[in-house]
Formats: sequence, C-alpha cells, structure tokens
Amino acid sequence: MTDGGDVANQSAAAVTIEVPKTTTEADELRLPSKLTEESEGPHEYDDEEENDFEDPWSLVRVAMGSLAGASWRLKQALVWPVESFELRNDPKGCSWSELFRRTQTFDDFRQSMPFRPNSAKGTIDLVLFDEVSKIRDKVNLEAVVAHLEVFLGFKVVLRPQAIALESWAHPREQPSEENKKRLGQQYGAHFILGRLKRASDPRSVCTLGITSVDVYPPRTYEFVTGIADESQRVGLYSFARYFNSRTPEQDSAADLKTKKTACLIMTLCRESLKLCGMGECHMLRCLMNPYPGGVPEY
Ligand SMILES: [Zn+2]
Repeated sequence: MTDGGDVANQSAAAVTIEVPKTTTEADELRLPSKLTEESEGPHEYDDEEENDFEDPWSLVRVAMGSLAGASWRLKQALVWPVESFELRNDPKGCSWSELFRRTQTFDDFRQSMPFRPNSAKGTIDLVLFDEVSKIRDKVNLEAVVAHLEVFLGFKVVLRPQAIALESWAHPREQPSEENKKRLGQQYGAHFILGRLKRASDPRSVCTLGITSVDVYPPRTYEFVTGIADESQRVGLYSFARYFNSRTPEQDSAADLKTKKTACLIMTLCRESLKLCGMGECHMLRCLMNPYPGGVPEY
C-alpha cells in the first residue's frame, strides 16, 4: 500500500512502512514463528458453511486458490485452519466478503509477480548507506540477514562496501527544531534511491537500501521511512525514526537495538514481499495486513 506519495518525477512512490504490531517484547527476534499465525479459540471448521459468503474460513480458502504444488505444510495447516491461522479481529465493521474483496488472492499474486519463479538470481541484495559502524551501533545486521533469509527463502547478500552519504545525497537541516538534535541532518531519499538503482542488479529478487540517517521525500512530507521503485524492485529504508522518542530511562541501549533490529526485519520482509508483487491481506492476522501508517513501531 503506497501512501499517496506525490513523486511523479521519480516514478517512485513514497511509502509509509507497514508492519503489524507484535505482542511481547521477549519474542521480538523470533519473527518467523511470530509471523505464522497462531491459533485461537475452539471454533471448528464447518463444512455446512462452505457456500456462505460471510464465512471467513471459506473465504480464506478461496483466496488461497488451487493448492496444486503447494507445500505439504500449507495443506496440513488447512486441515485445521483454526489452529493454524488467526482471523483478524479488527475489521472495523467491514463484512468478511468485503475484506475478501480487498485481499490479494494467490491467483492475483501470481499475475502480479514481477518475475517467473527461478528466473531471477535468487538473491536479495542489501546495500548500506552511511558509515557501517554507525549502522552496526544501532541494529544487528547479522540478525537482519539471518531472519530475512529464513522468512523469505532467498539468499541475502550484504554488500561489504557501504556507500558514504555526501553532497550528492543533498543533506538539509531538519524542518522542525525539536528534531535537529535527535535526528541530525536529513538526506534526500530520492537521490539515495537513484544511486541505489544504478548500483542494483536487475537479476536480483530485489535490492534493499538501509540507512540510519533520516531521509526526506521529493515533496509533500516532512520525512519518510521508506521509498521504493517497484518497477525495478529497489527500495530504500531508513530506521532513523524507529523508537526515536524513547528515553534512556525507558530502554537500555541494548533493548533499543533489539527493538530497532526486529522492527527493521519486519519492515524489510514486508517490503521485499511488496516488491515481489505481494499485496495486502485483510482476513488473517499476518505481515501483509494493512498498516495504520506512520513510523513502524509496536
Ligand atoms: Zn496474509
């Protein structure tokens, strides 16, 4: 879901990063298990409701489409859907049939996939902008790489050479006084994205830029946490604003690093899937649920 970014000149869309909330802090780095929806309640799958347009489980099953070639795990999960998945409980008065209509079905996804399976190199490239040591101070890059690999099933290659942010990235002062101290200078997201596009390999599944500096979009918004060019499967993500307002009394430096890392992992998983053509999911609790917008914290 792009959030109305008016960036016509760049053929890129400003995006608000969307990550679902997680529940407990202790679980933060065990993301893949969190992202497979958990079971809830004693409901039974009811065959008699199969033709009911308002039965959520029937609609979920329809959205999944043909299971020919699907993994045995998915087929097994669908034998006990209630134990395997969790329905969203915050549909805001929407009927299940309406939520189904908004959800990307598996067949829709196959049509919007930007490459055929096995035709890309099968790697996701990560490119760092800013000094590596500054990024390493704030997030655990090894954890990011390891979690992306497990969750997305592609090899993740972290480019050893970071790209330094200099005048080409058009630094500017923060528009608001209070952010000057906390966030330092801002850099132009679209300039960095342009640089990233030139450094990307079109055979990669996608190319993700990561930066610890605050970035501004071409216009309209004061800041963005991400900007992407979906046609080239390239995106830039800044974690500068993650937990930016926390004080040392609220979180130790180590806790903050763990939180930022988990948050970045979820953002990059979600954004990678979006760059690969995956759309929103409105029925089950999952990573692709619509995000209320703003900075991805939980
Ligand atoms: Zn989903």
